[in-house]
Amino acid sequence: MTSFAQLKEREESLLCRTYGRYPLAVKTAQGSVLTDFDGHEYIDLLSGIAVTNLGHSHPVLADVMNEQARKLVHLSNLFYQQEQLNLAEKLLATTHFDKAFFCNSGAEANEAAIKLARRYAQRVKGRDAGTVITLTGAFHGRTLATVAATGQAKFQDGFAPIPQGFLQVEWGSLEALESAIDSDTVAVLAEIVQGEGGIRPMSLEYARGMQKLCRKKDILFMVDEVQTGMCRTGRFWAYQHYGLEPDVITSAKALANGLPMGAMLATDDVARGFEPGSHATTFGAGALVSSVAEKVVDIMQHEPLAERADKVGSSFMEDVRKLGERLPGTIEEVRGLGLMIGIVLTFPGKDVWDELLRRGFVLNLTQERVLRLLPALNIAEEHLAAFLRALEEILSERTAN
Ligand code: PLP
Repeated sequence: MTSFAQLKEREESLLCRTYGRYPLAVKTAQGSVLTDFDGHEYIDLLSGIAVTNLGHSHPVLADVMNEQARKLVHLSNLFYQQEQLNLAEKLLATTHFDKAFFCNSGAEANEAAIKLARRYAQRVKGRDAGTVITLTGAFHGRTLATVAATGQAKFQDGFAPIPQGFLQVEWGSLEALESAIDSDTVAVLAEIVQGEGGIRPMSLEYARGMQKLCRKKDILFMVDEVQTGMCRTGRFWAYQHYGLEPDVITSAKALANGLPMGAMLATDDVARGFEPGSHATTFGAGALVSSVAEKVVDIMQHEPLAERADKVGSSFMEDVRKLGERLPGTIEEVRGLGLMIGIVLTFPGKDVWDELLRRGFVLNLTQERVLRLLPALNIAEEHLAAFLRALEEILSERTAN
């Protein structure tokens, strides 16, 4: 029988050491419950980092995969593909956008957005410009261009030379943004709620001010919805909370509920920046992944999952706040939108995170003190209640000691 120790040893001899793994290997997953190789069950509050928004091993998606796998899996983007068009139609209908470009990950979707912003400025607007502005605390991916956009030293360490053409400004300051925009700027790329950055939602004033500034300076306003997208924050897309109309958004994680897929959506005007041959990917939106993603969009529209995320997320955050009041000095802040939630502890949270895992709760710790929860949008409320009870016990024990 396979054990955790055996998997760990095999991995050390077989894989590049790029990941700091959690001490857990999952054998099967259903809904929001993970089962390890010893048969222990865990409640999944992370959803593969905001990917399996509909829960694991969704039976309807399994049927779609099965059926499509027997008909057509991949042809390449040399061909017209009905499955891709069906998906584009449904996905675009959730937005004000006119055109989609499909790829395979969040980083690739952002690469497409960056390339489109530059090409639109240079070829459509006739400008000699190329700088994309991003914000401190951002995370846009791990390819060379997206680590440049991410702008954090820890993700760039040892990878010099880092591509040029990115400028980072302080999150939260419209003045800093305004003074950074110059004749070389083509776009601002921003997350409405920073994920890796510790679940930081923008204020309404900041988000709207940013769009207004982009319009005033005639540059593109591009929103990275890779983590926030697909009903996670209580609307289909996070920008819709704020009444924004970005020129471009990027999406990935939840698009195909676990199969790799990314998308960049743009207005007709901006999409003129691309022509046949200017950008491409071999795998993007093959028949299998497209038919699964189309079904994901269908389910998200027909089951009121955004509304549920909004309602369940708000009442859960309220419960965590009350817990913080019962145990003063433990929880500094609870922030988030919908089911994208950060519980900010007043102290480094590694021990709390370890104990939660030991008690069967899978979540993420980011920025050292932020317990990050990204549960499936259909998670049972009793799973969230069980997490709260465990957190209260752990924090009470800590305050008692
Ligand atoms: N953008 C955001 C906001 C993300 O959270 C992530 C991944 O966590 C990415 C981009 C990169 O996505 P991927 O890992 O699929 O390349």
